[in-house]
Amino acid sequence: MPYPEAINLPFNSHPIRNLYVPAKPGEFESDESGYWVIVQEECTVFYHGRGNPCLFEGELPDPMKVSSREMLMGTWREMPLRLLLIGKEIELPADFVAEPLLSLFFHECISDELLTIAGLAQQVARWEKNSAGCPRCGGDTDRIAGTWGKRCERCGHEHFPNVYPCVVVLVRNGDSLLMVRKPEWPEGYYSLPSGFCDFGECLEECVLREVEEETGIRVKNVRYQGSQSWPFPSQLMTAFTADYDGGEIVVDTGELQDVGWYGRDALPPTFSSKSIAGWLIANSIRGEKAG
Ligand SMILES: [Zn+2]
Repeated sequence: MPYPEAINLPFNSHPIRNLYVPAKPGEFESDESGYWVIVQEECTVFYHGRGNPCLFEGELPDPMKVSSREMLMGTWREMPLRLLLIGKEIELPADFVAEPLLSLFFHECISDELLTIAGLAQQVARWEKNSAGCPRCGGDTDRIAGTWGKRCERCGHEHFPNVYPCVVVLVRNGDSLLMVRKPEWPEGYYSLPSGFCDFGECLEECVLREVEEETGIRVKNVRYQGSQSWPFPSQLMTAFTADYDGGEIVVDTGELQDVGWYGRDALPPTFSSKSIAGWLIANSIRGEKAG
């Protein structure tokens, strides 16, 4: 069992707890060389020069020094870890490979440690890009020391990174699980109903609403199972189990292509247990966590 608890899943901090000590901007300064996590627009750039992909260590090659931005993110293996933001016009030197986070997620050769730091770097990069201007008046912003927050130079408005709560739900009916399919997923793939928390809603209420809206099925016995940071782009995915309480399947065709009940021993292709949806399903099949 690669992930005994949800805390062990990639994108949560636990998998890198022995490698990475985080620091917010201004909390930690160093002139020493160290490691780089490189973000080029929507892609993370890893160094492939030693075989397996890894974080680049040492002095950057010339093309990456041009019009780039860097910031210290803490330490990695007790050396400074810097985030480097480069534009898409930068031509990468040999041995550097840029890939979107989602395709890294599907790569078996990317370790959970690299996947986790890549997810974190993508969230920081996105925040830096989106927080350069004040959301209230459009003025320039300055860093609030020791935090990720920004303060508007013009109107004084302070804003901080948002993390969006979501739910994913494993619904049981006897030995069957409720599976849904979105049109953008790989051919034949199914997963679990999920959605974003709405204003004035607790997570359990979100579970009841999302399952009924997407599938027509009413559920009961909603039970929390764990959570996973989900950097696509910045969600907290909370996982629940629930039991069938009535209703017939009505597919919300605005979001889904198909919905169905599948026996635990005859499930369609689904996502790896690196995602908390896959983890819930794997646990249910084993009858350990959710069964
Ligand atoms: Zn402002």
